[in-house]
Amino acid sequence: LTGHKYGQSAEAVKVVVRCRPFSEKERAAGHTCIVDVDESRNCVTITAPKLSDGSGSSDGGKPTTATPGASADPPKSFTFDSVFDSNCKQLDVYNKTARPIVESVLEGYNGTIFAFGQTGTGKTFSMEGIRDVPEMRGIIPNSFVHIFSHIAAAPSGAKFLVRASYLEIYNEEVRDLLSSNPSKLDLKEHPDMGVYVKDLSSFVVKDVDEMDKLMNQGNKNRSVGFTEMNARSSRSHSIFTITIEMSETRDGKECIRAGKLHLVDLAGSERQSKTGATGDRLKEATKINLSLSCLGNVIKALVDGKASHIPYRDSKLTRLLQDSLGGNAKTMMIATMSPASYNYEETISTLRYASRAK
Ligand code: ADP
Ligand code: MG
Repeated sequence: LTGHKYGQSAEAVKVVVRCRPFSEKERAAGHTCIVDVDESRNCVTITAPKLSDGSGSSDGGKPTTATPGASADPPKSFTFDSVFDSNCKQLDVYNKTARPIVESVLEGYNGTIFAFGQTGTGKTFSMEGIRDVPEMRGIIPNSFVHIFSHIAAAPSGAKFLVRASYLEIYNEEVRDLLSSNPSKLDLKEHPDMGVYVKDLSSFVVKDVDEMDKLMNQGNKNRSVGFTEMNARSSRSHSIFTITIEMSETRDGKECIRAGKLHLVDLAGSERQSKTGATGDRLKEATKINLSLSCLGNVIKALVDGKASHIPYRDSKLTRLLQDSLGGNAKTMMIATMSPASYNYEETISTLRYASRAK
């Protein structure tokens, strides 16, 4: 069963699952916990809610076709590279997921870390976390600390140039979150540089503090002019990119390397039909689903290793990340999910997406 997992291309894509805690509100509403996370076996088991508790489709999912009295679906189990239960610590998640990728970026490779999942399941908590509480910091701020402590500990002859940019893809349009004029930007292709965002701002960063400030600035721009900030952030993909150029002298020769790290907080993966979207909203929804399904297809093709064509060009997201997905790059997907019964359909679909990527 796991034979293919150790193939060269499969090594490059890892998938982990993280379950958020049950909230007080959910408990108060009488929802039950239907997810079991077995960290020792890297396995997640989900049990269909009993038909009688009515929570299976209370989120407005597609009408159930189950006949009255029919037994619920049997429990389903899924295995991943790692699984994290609701008690896991942010730093443990960092060490098991991001640390090896950041280390390879510091050696001159590219890497991408995605958070994928339904809105409200902990994507932003995993990527960004609560930055003013040290133990609640997520992958992005932990990577800042990791990178700059590596640089501080490097031999004196080594030189580093760190740059950061921050963008969002909303409705298949790319916007610079670090520009005072966040107009829509174009993707271009350069024979040497590959795909890049024309006119995207990029800042040289000297320490963790400057990184933090850039992130704050970008987060502010994410909400400017939008009353429904949450609605917007759940419909857009944000990409924080750190580029590290390093030079050192080896045997009297100067050796230059560059690595790039993309930290991606994806749009919510929930089915858009249930939100009753029409008009612009529906168009927007279709585009979100398009880039998430393209990403799934690209990752699946990479993991298969046999595909002759990787469909990078099918969405802005995958085009932009083309040189950091597959090949020598390392990719990590963190699929986040809710433990609660009323999210059954969405959680199953997250688990299917995540295991398809394996
Ligand atoms: P998303 O970005 O996927 O929409 P959020 O990261 O905003 O979801 O999480 C929704 C809520 O749940 C937030 O209040 C967040 O602090 C909380 N939360 C998510 N995951 C965890 C976790 N692992 N531990 C504690 N709180 C969490
Ligand atoms: Mg979020």
